[in-house]
Amino acid sequence: MGDTEAKAEFPFDINPMYEGERVRKSGMYAELGGVNKPGFELVLFEPDPAKINDGEVTLIGPDIEDMEEGGAYAYGMIYRVSGEELEKDLEAVIERRDHEFQGYIQGYMHLNQRAEIWVRISKDAVKKGLKSLKQIGEATISLFKAELPFIEKMDATYITEEAEVIRQLEEANQIYEARDVRSRGLHDEDVDEFYQCSLCQSFAPTNVCVVAPDRTALCGAMSWFDSRAAARVDPEGPNASIPKGECIDPIGGEYTGVNEAAVKLSGGEYDSIKLHSFLEKPHTSCGCFEVAGFYIPELDGIGWVHRGSKVSETPIGLPFSTVAGSVGGGKQVRGFLGIGIQYFYSPKFIQYDGGWRRVVWMASDLKERVGDAIPEEMKKLIATENDAKDIEELREFLKSVNHPVVNGVTREVDGTKVTEGWTKAEEEKEVAPAAIVEAAVPVAQGLAQVPMGPVMASEAPVRLILKDADISIGKIIVKRKGEK
Ligand code: SF4
Repeated sequence: MGDTEAKAEFPFDINPMYEGERVRKSGMYAELGGVNKPGFELVLFEPDPAKINDGEVTLIGPDIEDMEEGGAYAYGMIYRVSGEELEKDLEAVIERRDHEFQGYIQGYMHLNQRAEIWVRISKDAVKKGLKSLKQIGEATISLFKAELPFIEKMDATYITEEAEVIRQLEEANQIYEARDVRSRGLHDEDVDEFYQCSLCQSFAPTNVCVVAPDRTALCGAMSWFDSRAAARVDPEGPNASIPKGECIDPIGGEYTGVNEAAVKLSGGEYDSIKLHSFLEKPHTSCGCFEVAGFYIPELDGIGWVHRGSKVSETPIGLPFSTVAGSVGGGKQVRGFLGIGIQYFYSPKFIQYDGGWRRVVWMASDLKERVGDAIPEEMKKLIATENDAKDIEELREFLKSVNHPVVNGVTREVDGTKVTEGWTKAEEEKEVAPAAIVEAAVPVAQGLAQVPMGPVMASEAPVRLILKDADISIGKIIVKRKGEK
C-alpha cells in the first residue's frame, strides 16, 4: 500500500494487515447491509472532471454516532471517478477494489460486492473515535487514489437512509445487469486470452481465479471485459492476461495456458483446472462466490444456494454458511463449487457434468432470480425447498417428475452419457453396498466433506457426515455384517 498522508488524520489504523479482519457480533457496534438490510456499492465513471468534487464525501441518512449500538442499517456507497486514462469499462474493476481498500481499515469489516455488501463496524473502532462514515469515505478515497493513480478525481455519496438506499439500489441493479448482459454475447472460443485475478489471494493464497467470456468471476464483479480493461490500465496489477494456449478439453474448458497459470498462481498446489466442470478439476473458490453448489451423491445430482438466500437449509441439511465453509479457502474441492450468478447464463454452465440436466435442487429465491437462464424443459424438474426438504423427499420428487438423473444424464453438447441413473439400482434391492456407493459417485471419487450415504433407500441406511475433514484413503473395503 502506498503510505497515505491521510493516515494520521483518522482515529483508526489503515494497513493491509487488517484485510480479512472479522468483526464478530459480540464486538459489533453496527451492521450495514448484509442479510438484514439492503446495501450496494457502485462506481460510476464521470467523463467531465469538473463535475467531481474531489475528495468530498456526502452522507444521506443517520451517521455512526446517531446509530444504536447493535443496530442494523441500510448502506449504499456510490463513488464517482474521473481521469484521462479512465473509461467506462473500468467501473466494475474499481468497484471491486472497494472490498480490498476498506478491508485495510481497522475495525471496519467489508465483505462481498455489488448488492451483497455486508459491513460491520466494531465497538473498539467507535471507542477509539470513529464517529462518522465520512471518515471511512475519506480514508477510502485516499486509498483508491494512492493505489490507482489513474483515478485523478473521486468523490463519494454514502447513504444510510433505507428508503433512499432501496431507490438507488434499483438503479444500481440496472447498471449491474447491463454490464452482465454485455458479456453474454462473447464466448471462450472468440478470444485468445483469459484473465487471472489475484485480488483474493490475500486471504485465500492458493486461489486461482480465471475470468473467461463464458465464466464470469465467481464474485460476480469481474467480467472478461472488465478484466481486460483492468489489465490494460494496470498491467502490474491483479488482472494479468492468461494466453489460452492449446485447448485440451473443449467440453470441460481445459487449456494449457490456464493450467500453467494455475501452477504459478497456486504456488504449485494445482496444475489443472477445467473451467466448465463441477466434479473433475473444478475451478478453485475463494470466499467471495455469489452462489455455492454442492454435489448430492445419494442422487448423483447438484444443488445450488446463494448468499443471502431466505432458505434456511438445503436438502443436505446445511445452510448456505456451512456449505460456503466447505467451498471456500482457495481450494479445488471436488463436490463443492463457488460461482457467480452470471455463470448460470453461460451456454457452457457445468457442461462437463451435464449442465442443467444435472441440477436437482435450487433455493426457490435463486431459482426465481435466474429463471430465464433455466432451459424450459428443466424448469419443472428442478426442486426447491417447497418441493423437498431433505434427500428422501427430493428423491421422491425427482422420480415423480422423471428428472434426467433418475435414468442417467446425457450431455447435450456431445451426446455422452455422464451418469448411469439410479432407477435400475433401486429396483434391484440386493445391490451390494460398495456398488451402491460407486454408482453414487461415478466421477467424484475422493470426495471429502460431503454428506454421504447409500444411493438407494435400504433397510438400514447409513449416513456419514464428514465436516471440515481432510481425508486421504488409499483403499476402502465395505463388507456385509458378519462377513470376514
Ligand atoms: S473472487 Fe476472484 S475475480 Fe473476484 S475479486 Fe476475488 S480473485 Fe478477483
